[in-house]
Amino acid sequence: MGKPYKSFTFTTKLKVNRRILVAGGAGFLGSHLCERLLKDGNTVICLDNFSTGRMDNLRHLLRYDTFSFIRHDIVEPIDVAVDEIYNLACPASPPHYQADPVHTMMTSVLGALNLLELAAHHKARIFQASTSEVYGDPHVHPQPESYWGNVNSFGPRACYDEGKRSAETLFYSFHQQYGVDIRIVRIFNTYGPRMRADDGRVVSNFIVQALKGEDITVYGDGSQTRSFCYVDDLIEGFYRLMNSPAPIHTPVNIGNPGEFTVKQLAEQVVAMTGSSSRIVYRPLPVDDPHQRKPDITMAERGLGWAPTVALAEGLKATIAYFEHQLAPPAKEFAVVA
Ligand code: NAD
Ligand code: UDP
Repeated sequence: MGKPYKSFTFTTKLKVNRRILVAGGAGFLGSHLCERLLKDGNTVICLDNFSTGRMDNLRHLLRYDTFSFIRHDIVEPIDVAVDEIYNLACPASPPHYQADPVHTMMTSVLGALNLLELAAHHKARIFQASTSEVYGDPHVHPQPESYWGNVNSFGPRACYDEGKRSAETLFYSFHQQYGVDIRIVRIFNTYGPRMRADDGRVVSNFIVQALKGEDITVYGDGSQTRSFCYVDDLIEGFYRLMNSPAPIHTPVNIGNPGEFTVKQLAEQVVAMTGSSSRIVYRPLPVDDPHQRKPDITMAERGLGWAPTVALAEGLKATIAYFEHQLAPPAKEFAVVA
């Protein structure tokens, strides 16, 4: 999947055999990141509380003797000797992060604190998976990193949005005060294989509904927009930011600037699956952002990064993944003598 990045001049001397902690490594993005880091010859310790993550996402990695995992909640401190830390631990889907908002906020804030202390102690470089949600319901479009956002601190999304904003502030403060080597990526809506069928985010919901012949649930009138990035592109962006020869200690947007309404996405999924599902309209959730599109100038100039996978191509791979996931297990035939 995806084209090679040969059009870019960016080069990084590949550093191998680092000990890397991936917090949230059993999740959708974390499992793709673990795979990439292992393939590059690193030792990877996946840390996860398995709240939304799954062992199924890691099974194919168990053949690496450089791979191990720890069941742990980052709200609690941990000590493990590492050279690098990626913090992806946090539920990302609105229904999941709103199910236990206090724990979501603590995961972002206390979790970041615990991992930053670990980084300071071991002089490890540390990466934070931040989010386009720090821009809230944006008044500036597309969103550059310099935009401060429009976030409600007192609503159902706030546990996630404000938690992630506080985590960015902690990263900034540890860098300023203790010289910790930080990297922060603001991730825009990303999709692909290994999302859970019950994840609740729009791409997986629509594909699963279409494949099951169920109604496709568009929230609101479907005119709100999102920009959808395929997972392989995102992981390449993570990698380039973490290994950038020039240290980039400020947040960087990584996302696909292609902008679609939710209604357009529903129609495309129906067309691509050949589904007989109807598109139905449900109430728009509180504080649902009306528009979202990354300004990726900083990633393009600083990292030589741009997405390569168009929505139709990424949806094709994701639909194939869910077709396989939803297929009934193969029947075993009894051998009749
Ligand atoms: P995910 O829910 O699939 O993965 C999150 C992982 O973190 C899961 O394995 C979960 O079990 C683990 N986790 C949650 N709380 C934890 C805790 N307290 N301690 C230890 N482990 C914990 O979600 P994802 O889409 O893979 O997102 C990964 C990261 O990227 C998250 O931090 C999310 O906020 C961020 N992000 C993702 C997107 C996206 O579109 N996928 C967009 C913006 C930001
Ligand atoms: N959405 C929808 N139907 C669904 C799930 C989500 O119309 O079944 C909408 C949701 O209201 C939002 C957009 O799709 O406007 C993206 O939602 P998602 O939960 O994927 O991400 P986020 O809102 O965090 O960007």
